[in-house]
Amino acid sequence: MCATCGCSGGAVRVVDPAASHGHGHGHSHDHPHDHDHPHDDADRTHTIAFEQAVLAKNDDLAAANRRRLAQRGIVALNLMSSPGAGKTTLLTRTISDLTASLGPLPVSVVEGDQETLLDAERISGTGCRVVQINTGSGCHLDAAMVDRGLRALDPPERSVVFIENVGNLVCPALFDLGEAARVVIASTTEGEDKPLKYPQMFAAADLVLLNKVDLLPYLAFDVEAWLAGLRRVNADAPVLRLSATAGDGLDGWYEWLRGCVAGVGSGSGTEAGAGGRPVG
Ligand code: MG
Repeated sequence: MCATCGCSGGAVRVVDPAASHGHGHGHSHDHPHDHDHPHDDADRTHTIAFEQAVLAKNDDLAAANRRRLAQRGIVALNLMSSPGAGKTTLLTRTISDLTASLGPLPVSVVEGDQETLLDAERISGTGCRVVQINTGSGCHLDAAMVDRGLRALDPPERSVVFIENVGNLVCPALFDLGEAARVVIASTTEGEDKPLKYPQMFAAADLVLLNKVDLLPYLAFDVEAWLAGLRRVNADAPVLRLSATAGDGLDGWYEWLRGCVAGVGSGSGTEAGAGGRPVG
């Protein structure tokens, strides 16, 4: 995991684009990144212990996030994929369409990227409340970052929060954020071997979306081979084929989302997260 090379230790910034006036292109380079990794047994033991400590601390913070979200009836969904799979495009389309399909439930977004406000600005363009977390050298969101993001975002009770993770099929799989469910977005432009090459990411999914299916006529992507690989690492997660740009298959995605938030609007607040991992 990335704790081995220390990339989780970089400077993190939480930016509210509505208050930043677009000055989101600063840099944080105060984190030395040494690729000369020693590999003797003592160092390896130390590294494993450090990784376990990092993940254990993250799990505690994630549990606290999950508890607070559940108490307020907020469904948080962690969207993960490689860079360019279409997370932000799917989000902007979904947010625009959800106004009708999810009724009165407010939607807001926590955006994760190493740098820039570009995605937060796209989300903000839909009229949706958003905060951007810039992870600097970090390659994933963790529970502490999401806690900071949620405090800045301050989502209303009985609402939906999409967390767009940093584009990466490796480390985000290891860090629980306190989400109700994990949605992994694959795309037809990536090649069908990704579930087998990055099994932890696909094994962690509560839902897998295959995006950009409108491009299949122009690609050599083998859907059945992709699906067979996925089923070797995750036998149960539902799979939906869609195109965030052309609109194919979005009804199934919205139906899944409606199931996820079922009960939230009733005001009970503690039953959120039907689509995935335990809440509370
Ligand atoms: Mg994005």
